[in-house]
Amino acid sequence: MTLLEAGPRLLPTFHPQSSKYTLKTLTKMGVHVHVDAAVIEATPQSLRLKDGSEIFAGTRIWAAGVVAPPHWKFLGETDRGNRIKVNSHLQISDSIWVVGDVASFPDNDGRPLPMVAPVAIQQGKHVARQIQRRESSKPLEVFKYRDKGQMATIGRRKAVVEMRSWLRFQGSLAWLTWLALHLAYLSGGRNRTSIFADWIWNYLVWTPRRTIID
Ligand SMILES: Cc1cc2nc3c(=O)[nH]c(=O)nc-3n(C[C@H](O)[C@H](O)[C@H](O)COP(=O)(O)OP(=O)(O)OC[C@H]3O[C@@H](n4cnc5c(N)ncnc54)[C@H](O)[C@@H]3O)c2cc1C
Repeated sequence: MTLLEAGPRLLPTFHPQSSKYTLKTLTKMGVHVHVDAAVIEATPQSLRLKDGSEIFAGTRIWAAGVVAPPHWKFLGETDRGNRIKVNSHLQISDSIWVVGDVASFPDNDGRPLPMVAPVAIQQGKHVARQIQRRESSKPLEVFKYRDKGQMATIGRRKAVVEMRSWLRFQGSLAWLTWLALHLAYLSGGRNRTSIFADWIWNYLVWTPRRTIID
């Protein structure tokens, strides 16, 4: 398996040590990782890269991110991911709030907040509070994102977790933390129990698999 990454390192939003761990772990798992490898064209048999090289592959999985649908662009100014630029209250007009993946709200460095669930959840809660404040004729508050950290799974018992710049860990503990937090954030005890049972079952019956497609 070959993994192509356009940037100079894997997981670019993480600490360089986490990127290093990810690269090492994937390589040990048999993945050929190429960084600085931007794909510019997919042909029926291959992928062409920016540096002029070509990689032949029958099965290709595109995981280079998503963009918001372009038909909302008429609502206002958008960024390169078609996300609508919102003001400090998450509004595009007095009566329209935009939250989640489709909203482009800058972080402290001026880059749009990532398209992840914690951003969408915090923005949703913020807007609910603002609507209540407006009902009680109170002034609106500015949205402030509270970054609780980031996590990524790489494989079985392999993950990276970064809570603060000084609190980072990897491997089995990080993987268990990822599982526990995702379980905790699911709504309803029934969902949690069935997904937990699924995970246990999958863990027990898991065997390395290889799919060969001619
Ligand atoms: C494969 C994948 C894995 C991810 N993993 C993680 C992860 O591990 N951790 C993390 O934090 N984030 C993850 N994310 C990102 C996370 O899912 C999103 O950031 C989050 O769901 C955004 O919430 P949202 O409410 O903005 O949009 P969504 O959750 O996408 O909700 C939008 C809803 O609007 C509906 N909709 C769309 N168009 C219309 C329309 N025209 N009319 C009516 N309804 C419409 C959609 O069907 C959808 O239900 C992942 C995303 C993907 C795709």
